Amino acid sequence: MLAKSLRIRALARGLCAGLTCLAHGVGVSSAQTGADLELERAILSTFEQINAVPRCSKDEARISAWLVEWAGARGLAVSSDAHRNVLITVPATAGWEDRPGVVLQAHMDMVCAKAEGSAHDFTRDPIPVIRDGDWVRATGTTLGADDGIGIALALTLVERATKPHPKLEVLITADEEKDMSGAAGLDPGLLTGTRYINLDSEDDATVTLGAAGGLHTDIELPLAMTPLAAEMTVFDLKVSGLLGGHSGLDIDKNRPNANILIAELLLGAFPFQLTGIEGGGVANAIATSAVAGIAVAAGDVAALERRVADFAADARVRYPAEAGMTLTLTRAANALQPAASAEASANAVRLLAAIPQGVTAWSEEFDGLPESSSNIGIVTSTDRALAIATFQRSFRADHLQALAQRIAAHARAAGATSIQRGSFPAWPPNTGTGLYRAVLASYSKLFGAPMATSVVHAGLECGYIAAKYPAMEIVSIGPTLENVHTSNERLKVSSLPKLWNLLQEVVQAP
Ligand SMILES: [Zn+2]
Repeated sequence: MLAKSLRIRALARGLCAGLTCLAHGVGVSSAQTGADLELERAILSTFEQINAVPRCSKDEARISAWLVEWAGARGLAVSSDAHRNVLITVPATAGWEDRPGVVLQAHMDMVCAKAEGSAHDFTRDPIPVIRDGDWVRATGTTLGADDGIGIALALTLVERATKPHPKLEVLITADEEKDMSGAAGLDPGLLTGTRYINLDSEDDATVTLGAAGGLHTDIELPLAMTPLAAEMTVFDLKVSGLLGGHSGLDIDKNRPNANILIAELLLGAFPFQLTGIEGGGVANAIATSAVAGIAVAAGDVAALERRVADFAADARVRYPAEAGMTLTLTRAANALQPAASAEASANAVRLLAAIPQGVTAWSEEFDGLPESSSNIGIVTSTDRALAIATFQRSFRADHLQALAQRIAAHARAAGATSIQRGSFPAWPPNTGTGLYRAVLASYSKLFGAPMATSVVHAGLECGYIAAKYPAMEIVSIGPTLENVHTSNERLKVSSLPKLWNLLQEVVQAP
C-alpha cells in the first residue's frame, strides 16, 4: 500500500548499489552488514515456510493451524477465534513488564492472482520465492508478500529480538483481502496492548497514518439467452495485457479497466447480441483482461472490424503506458450459442459503461490523494444473468454511501438489482500519538533521514481497530513491495533488515 505524500528517500542506500555478493549474487550496498544479510536469510526462510501453505482469502484453515503450531512449538501462549484469527502472546523481557504492551499485526490471507497460462493451483501448490537481484518474486502468480512478509517480520522479531521489549501480542488476522471479516469479527476485549503496529504497508520509507473505508456493491442484471438466428456471425472480442493494479493504490494512475473498455467499444455501435461476457478476477484489482462473445448480422461484420481497429488505435493514444494492451476479434468456435436480444445486450453494456470507474472525488486535506473511487472488479455472465462486482472506497462514510447509492440507481435504471456487502470503516489519521513520534524518531536515528508520512486510498484493517479500541495508538509500516495483487508482485529484499531494525527500535521506544 503506497500513498500520495511528500517523501524524502534514504539516499545512503542508493549510492552503494552495484557490488555483488557471492552467496546471493545480488546487488548489495557496502553499508549492508553481515547481520543484515543474516536477517534477510532468517526473514526469507520464515517467509518461504509461510509460502508453502496455501492461504487464499477464505481458505485460511491451514495457515491458521500452522501459526498456532509455530507458537506452540516455541512454548508461547497462543489462541485462535471463530474467524481463524490467531493471537500469539510473548511475555515482556524481565523488568519490562510495566511498559505499555505492543501489538504487531499482519494478515494471513493473500490475493491469489496468476498470469494467463499459469497452471498454478493456489489450493495446493507452494509459491516459490525466486531471487532476482535485490528483489524476490514468484513465477506468474502473486508472491504473497502482501502480507506474508508482515507475518515473517513479526515472527522473526519474536525469535530473534536482540533488545529488551515489553509484552508483545502478535495478531494475525484472516480474510483481509476479501471482506476483512477477521478484523471485523475481532473481540474488542482481546488485546491488552496500547500501541498497535500494522505490518501491511508497502514502502519502507513511509509510515502510514490513515486509510480509506470501503464497501462492495454487487449487481445482478437478468439477461435471458435464446437461440441465435442462423445468419448471425459470432465473434470473441477480447481485451488483454493491461497493467491493471490495486483498485485503491493504482486507481489514480489512468489505468484502463478491461471491463470498461469492452463496454465502451460496444456502446452505441451497430446492433449486436451478447453470447457471454467475462472480465477481471478479484474485486479489489483493476481488471487486466475481459472477453465478450458477440453476434452480429453479416452486414455489420465489416463495421465491427473497423470499430475494433479504430477503438484500439484510440485506446493506445488514451493509455500510452499500456504497452501490452491487446484487442482481438476472432470468430467464435461455436456459432450456435444462445444469446441475449440486441436490446438487452445494448442495455447491459450501457449499464457497465454508466457505472463510475476510477477516482470520483479528490481529498481536500491531502494534495493529490483520491478521496473517493470505484472499480468494476469482476464481470461474469450465465445463460440467465449478468453479474457485476464493484468496490467503492472513501475516507468519508457519507460519500461512500452516496457513491454506492449512485451505482444502485444505475442498476435500477437498467432493470438490475444490487446489494451492498463487506463494508469496512476508514481509519482517521492521528499525528498526535507517542507511537507515531517514536516511529519518526527511530527512523531518523537509524537511517539518518526523515521518514515520510502518508494516508492511503486503500483498505487497512486499522479502521476496525480504531473503531473497537478508540484509545489505541496505531501506525502502519512495511517493507517495499511493488505490483501487489498482480502476478508481477515483488519484494525488495534489502528493505527487510531495514524494516526489522526499525520495528525492534519502535517496539522498545518509550
Ligand atoms: Zn495486504
